[in-house]
Amino acid sequence: MPAPSKASAPSRAFAPTPAPTRPTPAQTRLTLDLAATIRHDGHGGVADDLDTPEGLTAWVSDRAELLPDDLAARRYRADAAALDRVRALRSAVRALFAHAVLPGEPSPADARRLLPLAEAVTRLNDAAAKVLTVPVLSWPDGAGPLVRDEPVPGAGHASPARRADLLDAALARAAHAFIAGPDRQRLRACHAPRCVRYFLKEHPRQEWCKPSCGNRARVARHHERARGPA
Ligand SMILES: [Zn+2]
Repeated sequence: MPAPSKASAPSRAFAPTPAPTRPTPAQTRLTLDLAATIRHDGHGGVADDLDTPEGLTAWVSDRAELLPDDLAARRYRADAAALDRVRALRSAVRALFAHAVLPGEPSPADARRLLPLAEAVTRLNDAAAKVLTVPVLSWPDGAGPLVRDEPVPGAGHASPARRADLLDAALARAAHAFIAGPDRQRLRACHAPRCVRYFLKEHPRQEWCKPSCGNRARVARHHERARGPA
């Protein structure tokens, strides 16, 4: 990064402190939900909610309130190309998650086939750049004023290509905000038997993504102790 010129450098006393990037709750939810489409199937295997275009259509429709209005998420229909693109973004998000939980172990679901970090970052940046955004101020009744980056409104009805770009860009920008924000430090991979989830730690002693995982882990430990040293 080039050093700022003397003329433009602010004096130290008045140098602004950069505000931490804060994801909106919707961006955090969207990013965690995207990673969690790879999940334990309840029978010892791994299920993928995004294994067909119909799976992506349902996933997007269920998250309509988290996605840009222009996408018209409840009427969105995914095709094979859109599915490939979202799955590619998910690989990038899971690679960043694996990096974020270091020195902890990543989720075992894809630990052996993670994208290199630089490739994951480039993939998200390319997707985020597909749609230009502008800062938009809103001041809802009974709440504080809020500035959000929203897609530059398109003219009229969004084409299927535009909607595919809107989806990619929204997912990528959500991942940007989450990864650069403070919640990243609470991200953990759950290592209960068979679980492949990433989750946000809600209290210091939390080890598992949910109580049922804690129960399975305790049962597994009990059986291990009962078997004794090999
Ligand atoms: Zn778990």
